[in-house]
Amino acid sequence: MKALVYGGPGKKSWVDVPEPKIVHATDVIVRVETTTICGTDLHILKGDVPAVEEGRILGHEGVGTITEVGSSVDSLAVGDRVIISCIKSCGHCVNCTAGLYSHCLGDEGVSGIGWIFGHLIDGTQAEYVRVPYAENSLYKLPAGVSDDEAVMLSDILPTGFEIGVQYGKVAPGDVVAVIGAGPVGLAAITTAGLYGAATIVAIDLDKNRLEKAREFGATDVVDSSASDWKDQVFALTDGAGVDVAIEAVGIPPTFGMATELVRPGGHVANVGVHGKPVELHLENLWIQNINISMGLVNTNTTPMLLKLVASKKIAAEKFGTHHFTFDQIIDAYDTFSRAAETNALKVIITR
Ligand code: NAD
Ligand code: ZN
Repeated sequence: MKALVYGGPGKKSWVDVPEPKIVHATDVIVRVETTTICGTDLHILKGDVPAVEEGRILGHEGVGTITEVGSSVDSLAVGDRVIISCIKSCGHCVNCTAGLYSHCLGDEGVSGIGWIFGHLIDGTQAEYVRVPYAENSLYKLPAGVSDDEAVMLSDILPTGFEIGVQYGKVAPGDVVAVIGAGPVGLAAITTAGLYGAATIVAIDLDKNRLEKAREFGATDVVDSSASDWKDQVFALTDGAGVDVAIEAVGIPPTFGMATELVRPGGHVANVGVHGKPVELHLENLWIQNINISMGLVNTNTTPMLLKLVASKKIAAEKFGTHHFTFDQIIDAYDTFSRAAETNALKVIITR
Protein backbone atom coordinates (compact mmCIF):
# COMPACT_ATOMS: atom_id res chain seq x y z
CA MET A 1 0.00 0.00 0.00
CA LYS A 2 0.99 3.65 -0.21
CA ALA A 3 1.53 5.89 2.81
CA LEU A 4 2.99 9.27 3.77
CA VAL A 5 6.26 8.47 5.52
CA TYR A 6 8.24 10.85 7.74
CA GLY A 7 11.93 10.93 6.86
CA GLY A 8 13.21 13.25 9.60
CA PRO A 9 12.76 17.03 9.95
CA GLY A 10 11.61 18.59 6.67
CA LYS A 11 11.33 15.22 4.89
CA LYS A 12 8.27 13.28 3.85
CA SER A 13 7.34 11.01 0.94
CA TRP A 14 4.35 9.09 -0.44
CA VAL A 15 5.80 5.62 -0.88
CA ASP A 16 5.06 1.89 -0.88
CA VAL A 17 5.05 0.26 2.56
CA PRO A 18 3.82 -3.11 3.86
CA GLU A 19 0.10 -3.31 4.74
CA PRO A 20 -0.65 -3.31 8.48
CA LYS A 21 -1.63 -6.57 10.19
CA ILE A 22 -3.65 -7.32 13.31
CA VAL A 23 -1.17 -7.51 16.22
CA HIS A 24 -3.48 -7.74 19.26
CA ALA A 25 -6.91 -9.34 19.62
CA THR A 26 -8.40 -5.87 20.28
CA ASP A 27 -7.10 -4.38 16.98
CA VAL A 28 -8.94 -3.75 13.77
CA ILE A 29 -7.68 -2.75 10.33
CA VAL A 30 -9.38 0.23 8.68
CA ARG A 31 -9.27 1.02 4.99
CA VAL A 32 -8.80 4.79 5.13
CA GLU A 33 -11.17 6.63 2.80
CA THR A 34 -10.69 10.20 4.03
CA THR A 35 -7.85 11.77 5.98
CA THR A 36 -6.52 15.25 6.62
CA ILE A 37 -3.46 17.12 7.87
CA CYS A 38 -3.12 18.74 11.30
CA GLY A 39 -1.03 21.67 12.51
CA THR A 40 0.66 19.03 14.67
CA ASP A 41 1.89 17.21 11.53
CA LEU A 42 3.60 20.46 10.53
CA HIS A 43 5.16 20.66 14.03
CA ILE A 44 6.46 17.09 13.54
CA LEU A 45 7.97 18.05 10.18
CA LYS A 46 9.63 21.06 11.83
CA GLY A 47 11.25 18.62 14.28
CA ASP A 48 9.20 19.86 17.27
CA VAL A 49 8.06 16.34 18.25
CA PRO A 50 11.30 14.32 18.54
CA ALA A 51 9.46 11.15 19.66
CA VAL A 52 8.43 10.67 16.01
CA GLU A 53 11.00 8.37 14.43
CA GLU A 54 12.11 8.33 10.82
CA GLY A 55 10.02 5.87 8.84
CA ARG A 56 6.82 6.62 10.75
CA ILE A 57 3.58 6.94 8.75
CA LEU A 58 2.08 10.31 9.75
CA GLY A 59 -1.55 11.27 10.37
CA HIS A 60 -3.99 10.92 13.25
CA GLU A 61 -7.29 11.84 11.62
CA GLY A 62 -9.42 9.70 9.36
CA VAL A 63 -12.63 8.04 8.31
CA GLY A 64 -12.83 4.62 6.72
CA THR A 65 -14.25 1.13 6.55
CA ILE A 66 -13.23 -1.80 8.74
CA THR A 67 -11.67 -4.60 6.69
CA GLU A 68 -10.50 -6.95 9.45
CA VAL A 69 -11.25 -7.37 13.18
CA GLY A 70 -9.21 -8.93 15.97
CA SER A 71 -10.53 -12.05 17.71
CA SER A 72 -11.87 -10.23 20.79
CA VAL A 73 -13.66 -7.42 18.95
CA ASP A 74 -17.48 -7.87 19.22
CA SER A 75 -19.03 -4.43 18.82
CA LEU A 76 -17.43 -3.67 15.45
CA ALA A 77 -17.59 -5.68 12.24
CA VAL A 78 -16.04 -5.80 8.80
CA GLY A 79 -17.82 -3.23 6.65
CA ASP A 80 -18.58 -0.77 9.46
CA ARG A 81 -17.83 2.83 8.54
CA VAL A 82 -15.95 4.54 11.38
CA ILE A 83 -14.34 7.76 12.55
CA ILE A 84 -10.79 7.14 13.76
CA SER A 85 -10.15 9.13 16.92
CA CYS A 86 -6.70 10.69 17.21
CA ILE A 87 -6.55 9.20 20.73
CA LYS A 88 -6.53 5.47 21.42
CA SER A 89 -8.20 4.34 24.60
CA CYS A 90 -8.08 0.89 26.16
CA GLY A 91 -11.21 1.81 28.14
CA HIS A 92 -10.27 0.11 31.40
CA CYS A 93 -7.01 1.55 32.82
CA VAL A 94 -7.22 4.07 35.69
CA ASN A 95 -6.86 7.02 33.33
CA CYS A 96 -9.43 5.79 30.79
CA THR A 97 -12.00 5.06 33.50
CA ALA A 98 -11.51 8.67 34.68
CA GLY A 99 -12.13 9.95 31.12
CA LEU A 100 -8.45 10.89 30.69
CA TYR A 101 -8.02 8.90 27.46
CA SER A 102 -5.10 11.15 26.53
CA HIS A 103 -3.12 9.22 29.14
CA CYS A 104 -4.41 5.73 28.39
CA LEU A 105 -2.05 3.23 30.01
CA GLY A 106 -2.94 0.47 27.56
CA ASP A 107 0.36 -0.84 26.31
CA GLU A 108 1.37 -0.19 22.71
CA GLY A 109 5.11 -0.42 23.21
CA VAL A 110 4.87 2.77 25.20
CA SER A 111 2.44 3.29 27.99
CA GLY A 112 0.75 6.39 29.34
CA ILE A 113 -0.12 8.35 26.23
CA GLY A 114 -3.28 8.25 24.13
CA TRP A 115 -2.01 10.02 21.01
CA ILE A 116 0.00 7.34 19.24
CA PHE A 117 -1.15 7.46 15.57
CA GLY A 118 1.44 9.17 13.41
CA HIS A 119 3.48 9.67 16.58
CA LEU A 120 4.47 6.36 18.20
CA ILE A 121 2.76 3.95 15.80
CA ASP A 122 1.88 4.27 12.11
CA GLY A 123 -0.88 6.72 11.34
CA THR A 124 -3.81 7.43 9.07
CA GLN A 125 -2.20 9.13 6.06
CA ALA A 126 -2.13 5.71 4.45
CA GLU A 127 -4.39 3.38 2.52
CA TYR A 128 -4.82 1.14 5.60
CA VAL A 129 -4.19 1.62 9.31
CA ARG A 130 -4.11 -0.70 12.33
CA VAL A 131 -6.27 0.68 15.15
CA PRO A 132 -5.42 -0.61 18.65
CA TYR A 133 -8.19 -0.90 21.27
CA ALA A 134 -10.60 -0.40 18.41
CA GLU A 135 -13.83 -0.76 20.37
CA ASN A 136 -12.98 2.36 22.42
CA SER A 137 -11.04 4.28 19.79
CA LEU A 138 -13.43 4.19 16.81
CA TYR A 139 -16.87 5.77 16.48
CA LYS A 140 -19.43 4.34 14.06
CA LEU A 141 -20.46 6.86 11.47
CA PRO A 142 -24.21 7.53 11.59
CA ALA A 143 -26.18 7.91 8.35
CA GLY A 144 -26.39 11.52 7.22
CA VAL A 145 -22.88 12.49 8.35
CA SER A 146 -20.45 12.87 5.43
CA ASP A 147 -16.78 11.91 5.53
CA ASP A 148 -15.85 15.59 5.22
CA GLU A 149 -17.84 16.39 8.38
CA ALA A 150 -16.80 13.26 10.27
CA VAL A 151 -13.05 13.71 9.81
CA MET A 152 -13.29 16.96 11.82
CA LEU A 153 -14.24 14.81 14.81
CA SER A 154 -10.96 12.87 14.79
CA ASP A 155 -9.11 15.77 16.38
CA ILE A 156 -9.93 19.44 15.79
CA LEU A 157 -13.49 19.62 17.16
CA PRO A 158 -12.79 17.71 20.39
CA THR A 159 -9.46 19.55 20.80
CA GLY A 160 -10.89 23.06 20.47
CA PHE A 161 -13.84 22.14 22.69
CA GLU A 162 -12.10 20.12 25.42
CA ILE A 163 -8.71 21.82 25.76
CA GLY A 164 -9.92 25.30 24.81
CA VAL A 165 -13.55 25.73 25.92
CA GLN A 166 -13.91 23.14 28.70
CA TYR A 167 -10.44 23.51 30.25
CA GLY A 168 -10.86 27.30 29.92
CA LYS A 169 -14.10 26.96 31.92
CA VAL A 170 -16.09 29.17 29.55
CA ALA A 171 -19.27 30.28 31.33
CA PRO A 172 -22.47 32.10 30.28
CA GLY A 173 -21.82 35.75 29.44
CA ASP A 174 -18.04 35.37 29.14
CA VAL A 175 -15.73 37.28 26.85
CA VAL A 176 -13.53 34.64 25.21
CA ALA A 177 -10.44 35.48 23.15
CA VAL A 178 -9.09 32.82 20.82
CA ILE A 179 -5.55 33.45 19.64
CA GLY A 180 -4.94 31.60 16.37
CA ALA A 181 -7.88 31.12 14.01
CA GLY A 182 -6.56 27.97 12.40
CA PRO A 183 -8.79 24.89 12.34
CA VAL A 184 -8.26 24.23 16.06
CA GLY A 185 -8.90 27.84 17.08
CA LEU A 186 -11.99 27.89 14.84
CA ALA A 187 -13.18 24.70 16.52
CA ALA A 188 -12.90 26.50 19.89
CA ILE A 189 -14.73 29.52 18.43
CA THR A 190 -17.54 27.39 17.06
CA THR A 191 -18.03 25.45 20.33
CA ALA A 192 -17.57 28.34 22.82
CA GLY A 193 -21.24 29.18 22.33
CA LEU A 194 -22.21 25.78 23.76
CA TYR A 195 -21.32 27.18 27.19
CA GLY A 196 -22.88 30.57 26.57
CA ALA A 197 -19.93 32.81 25.66
CA ALA A 198 -21.36 36.27 24.92
CA THR A 199 -18.37 37.73 23.08
CA ILE A 200 -15.93 35.60 21.10
CA VAL A 201 -12.89 37.48 19.80
CA ALA A 202 -10.75 35.82 17.13
CA ILE A 203 -7.14 37.02 17.02
CA ASP A 204 -4.84 36.20 14.12
CA LEU A 205 -2.41 37.79 11.67
CA ASP A 206 -4.14 36.27 8.69
CA LYS A 207 -7.01 38.38 7.31
CA ASN A 208 -8.65 35.46 5.53
CA ARG A 209 -8.73 33.42 8.72
CA LEU A 210 -10.20 36.35 10.62
CA GLU A 211 -12.95 36.58 8.02
CA LYS A 212 -13.57 32.85 8.33
CA ALA A 213 -13.71 33.21 12.10
CA ARG A 214 -16.86 35.32 11.80
CA GLU A 215 -18.52 32.50 9.83
CA PHE A 216 -17.63 30.12 12.66
CA GLY A 217 -19.19 32.32 15.36
CA ALA A 218 -16.63 35.00 16.30
CA THR A 219 -18.45 38.19 17.27
CA ASP A 220 -15.32 40.30 16.82
CA VAL A 221 -11.92 39.93 15.18
CA VAL A 222 -8.57 41.55 15.93
CA ASP A 223 -5.52 41.56 13.69
CA SER A 224 -2.62 41.06 16.10
CA SER A 225 -0.16 42.77 13.75
CA ALA A 226 -1.85 46.07 14.72
CA SER A 227 0.13 47.97 17.35
CA ASP A 228 -3.03 48.51 19.42
CA TRP A 229 -4.26 44.90 19.22
CA LYS A 230 -4.42 44.63 22.97
CA ASP A 231 -6.43 47.84 23.37
CA GLN A 232 -8.82 46.57 20.69
CA VAL A 233 -9.44 43.41 22.71
CA PHE A 234 -9.74 45.27 26.02
CA ALA A 235 -12.31 47.60 24.44
CA LEU A 236 -14.54 44.54 23.98
CA THR A 237 -14.41 43.80 27.72
CA ASP A 238 -15.41 45.80 30.78
CA GLY A 239 -11.83 47.06 30.75
CA ALA A 240 -10.34 44.36 32.97
CA GLY A 241 -9.47 41.78 30.30
CA VAL A 242 -11.07 38.66 28.88
CA ASP A 243 -12.56 35.93 31.02
CA VAL A 244 -10.93 33.19 28.98
CA ALA A 245 -7.91 33.42 26.65
CA ILE A 246 -7.43 30.36 24.48
CA GLU A 247 -3.99 29.91 22.86
CA ALA A 248 -4.30 27.89 19.65
CA VAL A 249 -0.99 28.56 17.89
CA GLY A 250 1.83 26.91 19.86
CA ILE A 251 4.59 29.55 19.91
CA PRO A 252 5.98 31.62 22.83
CA PRO A 253 4.64 35.03 21.69
CA THR A 254 1.02 33.87 21.47
CA PHE A 255 1.18 32.20 24.88
CA GLY A 256 2.45 35.54 26.19
CA MET A 257 -0.47 37.30 24.48
CA ALA A 258 -2.95 35.03 26.27
CA THR A 259 -1.45 35.89 29.67
CA GLU A 260 -1.61 39.61 28.81
CA LEU A 261 -5.27 39.50 27.83
CA VAL A 262 -6.73 37.54 30.72
CA ARG A 263 -8.52 39.37 33.53
CA PRO A 264 -7.78 38.74 37.21
CA GLY A 265 -9.48 35.49 38.13
CA GLY A 266 -9.66 34.45 34.47
CA HIS A 267 -8.46 31.40 32.59
CA VAL A 268 -5.67 30.84 30.09
CA ALA A 269 -6.27 27.62 28.16
CA ASN A 270 -3.22 26.60 26.17
CA VAL A 271 -4.11 24.33 23.26
CA GLY A 272 -1.04 24.86 21.08
CA VAL A 273 1.67 22.20 20.81
CA HIS A 274 4.88 23.96 21.83
CA GLY A 275 8.33 23.01 20.58
CA LYS A 276 10.17 25.59 22.65
CA PRO A 277 10.00 26.72 26.30
CA VAL A 278 7.91 29.80 27.01
CA GLU A 279 8.57 32.51 29.56
CA LEU A 280 5.96 32.54 32.28
CA HIS A 281 5.90 35.89 34.08
CA LEU A 282 4.93 34.58 37.48
CA GLU A 283 6.29 37.77 39.01
CA ASN A 284 3.27 39.56 37.43
CA LEU A 285 0.79 36.73 37.18
CA TRP A 286 0.86 35.29 40.71
CA ILE A 287 -1.14 38.19 42.10
CA GLN A 288 -3.80 37.97 39.36
CA ASN A 289 -5.44 34.70 40.50
CA ILE A 290 -5.17 33.24 37.02
CA ASN A 291 -5.74 29.62 36.10
CA ILE A 292 -3.57 28.18 33.38
CA SER A 293 -4.53 24.89 31.78
CA MET A 294 -3.02 22.79 29.03
CA GLY A 295 -3.33 19.32 27.72
CA LEU A 296 -3.63 16.71 25.09
CA VAL A 297 -7.17 16.18 23.82
CA ASN A 298 -9.01 13.28 25.47
CA THR A 299 -11.71 12.87 22.79
CA ASN A 300 -14.13 11.87 25.56
CA THR A 301 -16.59 14.41 24.12
CA THR A 302 -16.51 12.95 20.59
CA PRO A 303 -19.85 11.08 20.91
CA MET A 304 -21.57 14.28 22.10
CA LEU A 305 -19.96 16.39 19.35
CA LEU A 306 -20.93 13.76 16.78
CA LYS A 307 -24.59 14.25 17.77
CA LEU A 308 -24.25 18.01 17.24
CA VAL A 309 -22.59 17.48 13.86
CA ALA A 310 -25.30 14.98 12.85
CA SER A 311 -28.04 17.44 13.84
CA LYS A 312 -26.19 20.22 11.95
CA LYS A 313 -25.78 22.29 15.15
CA ILE A 314 -22.04 22.33 14.39
CA ALA A 315 -21.26 23.15 10.76
CA ALA A 316 -18.33 20.76 10.47
CA GLU A 317 -18.32 20.76 6.66
CA LYS A 318 -17.18 24.40 6.68
CA PHE A 319 -13.68 23.40 7.83
CA GLY A 320 -12.86 21.56 4.60
CA THR A 321 -11.61 24.08 2.04
CA HIS A 322 -9.49 22.04 -0.38
CA HIS A 323 -9.84 18.51 -1.74
CA PHE A 324 -7.09 16.17 -2.89
CA THR A 325 -6.73 12.48 -3.67
CA PHE A 326 -4.23 10.27 -1.83
CA ASP A 327 -1.67 10.46 -4.62
CA GLN A 328 -1.79 14.29 -4.35
CA ILE A 329 -0.98 14.28 -0.63
CA ILE A 330 2.33 16.11 -1.08
CA ASP A 331 0.40 18.92 -2.81
CA ALA A 332 -2.10 18.82 0.05
CA TYR A 333 0.76 19.38 2.53
CA ASP A 334 2.03 22.23 0.40
CA THR A 335 -1.40 23.89 0.29
CA PHE A 336 -1.96 23.40 4.03
CA SER A 337 1.47 24.66 5.03
CA ARG A 338 1.03 27.84 2.96
CA ALA A 339 -2.42 28.59 4.38
CA ALA A 340 -1.82 32.33 4.44
CA GLU A 341 -1.48 32.28 0.62
CA THR A 342 -3.84 29.43 -0.21
CA ASN A 343 -6.62 30.32 2.28
CA ALA A 344 -6.70 26.67 3.36
CA LEU A 345 -8.32 25.54 6.58
CA LYS A 346 -8.52 21.73 6.51
CA VAL A 347 -7.38 19.93 3.39
CA ILE A 348 -9.49 16.83 2.75
CA ILE A 349 -7.64 13.91 1.23
CA THR A 350 -9.67 11.03 -0.19
CA ARG A 351 -9.02 7.77 -2.00
P1 NAD B 1 -2.57 26.24 12.22
O1 NAD B 1 -1.10 26.36 12.07
O2 NAD B 1 -3.42 25.96 11.04
O3 NAD B 1 -3.16 27.60 12.88
C1 NAD B 1 -2.41 28.48 13.64
C2 NAD B 1 -2.95 29.90 13.42
O4 NAD B 1 -2.19 30.79 14.23
C3 NAD B 1 -2.81 30.40 11.98
O5 NAD B 1 -4.06 30.89 11.51
C4 NAD B 1 -1.76 31.53 12.10
O6 NAD B 1 -1.99 32.60 11.17
C5 NAD B 1 -1.96 31.97 13.53
N1 NAD B 1 -0.81 32.68 14.08
C6 NAD B 1 0.51 32.40 13.92
N2 NAD B 1 1.26 33.30 14.58
C7 NAD B 1 0.40 34.16 15.18
C8 NAD B 1 0.57 35.32 15.98
N3 NAD B 1 1.78 35.77 16.31
N4 NAD B 1 -0.55 35.97 16.41
C9 NAD B 1 -1.77 35.52 16.07
N5 NAD B 1 -2.00 34.43 15.30
C10 NAD B 1 -0.92 33.77 14.87
O7 NAD B 1 -2.79 25.13 13.34
P2 NAD B 1 -4.08 24.31 13.86
O8 NAD B 1 -4.21 23.05 13.08
O9 NAD B 1 -5.25 25.21 13.98
O10 NAD B 1 -3.53 23.93 15.31
C11 NAD B 1 -3.32 24.94 16.28
C12 NAD B 1 -2.43 24.41 17.39
O11 NAD B 1 -3.11 23.37 18.11
C13 NAD B 1 -1.13 23.79 16.90
O12 NAD B 1 -0.08 24.14 17.77
C14 NAD B 1 -1.43 22.30 17.00
O13 NAD B 1 -0.25 21.54 17.09
C15 NAD B 1 -2.23 22.28 18.26
N6 NAD B 1 -3.02 21.06 18.55
C16 NAD B 1 -3.08 20.70 19.86
C17 NAD B 1 -3.78 19.56 20.22
C18 NAD B 1 -3.88 19.19 21.66
O14 NAD B 1 -4.32 18.06 21.96
N7 NAD B 1 -3.54 20.04 22.60
C19 NAD B 1 -4.40 18.78 19.23
C20 NAD B 1 -4.34 19.20 17.90
C21 NAD B 1 -3.63 20.36 17.58
ZN1 ZN C 1 -4.02 16.81 15.53
